[in-house]
Amino acid sequence: YEAYTEGFRGRNVAATGKVPLGLKKKNLRIVVTGGAGFVGSHLVDRLIARGDSVIVVDNFFTGRKENLMHHFGNPKFELIRHDVVEPILLEVDQIYHLACPASPVHYKFNPVKTIKTNVVGTLNMLGLAKRVGARFLLTSTSEVYGDPLQHPQVETYWGNVNPIGVRSCYDEGKRTAETLTMDYHRSLGIEVRIARIFNTYGPRMCIDDGRVVSNFVAQALRKEPMTVYGDGKQTRSFQYVSDLVEGLIRLMEGDHVGPFNLGNPGEFTMLELAEVVQEAIDPNAKIEFRPNTEDDPHKRKPDISKAKQLLGWEPTISLRKGLPLMVSDFRQRIFGTPKTLIG
Ligand code: NAD
Ligand code: UDP
Ligand code: UDP
Repeated sequence: YEAYTEGFRGRNVAATGKVPLGLKKKNLRIVVTGGAGFVGSHLVDRLIARGDSVIVVDNFFTGRKENLMHHFGNPKFELIRHDVVEPILLEVDQIYHLACPASPVHYKFNPVKTIKTNVVGTLNMLGLAKRVGARFLLTSTSEVYGDPLQHPQVETYWGNVNPIGVRSCYDEGKRTAETLTMDYHRSLGIEVRIARIFNTYGPRMCIDDGRVVSNFVAQALRKEPMTVYGDGKQTRSFQYVSDLVEGLIRLMEGDHVGPFNLGNPGEFTMLELAEVVQEAIDPNAKIEFRPNTEDDPHKRKPDISKAKQLLGWEPTISLRKGLPLMVSDFRQRIFGTPKTLIG
């Protein structure tokens, strides 16, 4: 098959929006691994909306069919229950490789499985890209910078990562996935893209995945105290999910391999985040301090100059604007009724 007649490469058309005269545009076939998860399902929504055919490959470890149910019955949508640690044969033009648990609670639950997903899963998807000549995008993470000694983090920074810590299955796993991606690119000519994603939040996050935004929002809604780990002075930068999806698509369609930091440079301490959640949900919400987890990075903030310059991308939704959008989704999932009905 060819994405476009006459062997024309579809992605170039997608990037410029122009189809040369005489060439009929066909839509792309795209696989999204981890597409039943938080980020993946939002990405699938965008790809389906622009007319592409999407195959989701997911083992439902942290993903949910509910995130994709609105596409069931659409002939352009397929959902395959499959573990990326096992090989799979598909015919596609692009591969968005997201499959991997992302929350510390989930990725520490079975660390050997996490590193196998990152290494063997990524190898299989690169093997697939090689066999069918597809373009491959890896969703790596800001965790490749570890507990960074450089602030904010630029893509050229090599990171400060503990190779034998409790987070290593994830951050060293993603570092190896980046290495594999670059080696397939350099030695076999596979077209690849690497995104380093910083903390992202939004509707459809797992309610009890232990990440800080989902924890604080769920706790404040349930009138439980918000659990601040350590002294709460550690920082993170929180990106709204639609900004990330826009960045991923621009990266896939663009001409640059990366890696690219995709994150919102607005930096907040966990105590400041708790204040924003109080503003959005309940000014009287309480805070409770808990001991911090091992190897917790002290600060994290992306330098996004490279993505701005080469992808023309930057986030548009601030934490104060994005948080309420997530709160209404959580409210509905926790209480089952929209806000106006529960008072
Ligand atoms: P998520 O847990 O909601 O989604 C991950 C999806 O991958 C789930 O649907 C899960 O069932 C699936 N999956 C896990 N292991 C699999 C396997 N072996 N085979 C098939 N499917 C598997 O997490 P997310 O937040 O949507 O993250 C998506 C990607 O983005 C991940 O690769 C993650 O590392 C990366 N990322 C996310 C963030 C963030 O803040 N959300 C930050 C940095 C990087
Ligand atoms: N692979 C896959 N689907 C494909 C092609 C390959 O899952 O369509 C897997 C394959 O089983 C192997 C991995 O991807 O484990 C790497 O494939 P590659 O061809 O690069 O390496 P090789 O099989 O030669 O070791
Ligand atoms: N954190 C917190 N309370 C919680 C959950 C997390 O204070 O209920 C802190 C955690 O110690 C870390 C930050 O919030 O410093 C972000 O944690 P998360 O698990 O969301 O993501 P990470 O960036 O560590 O992968």
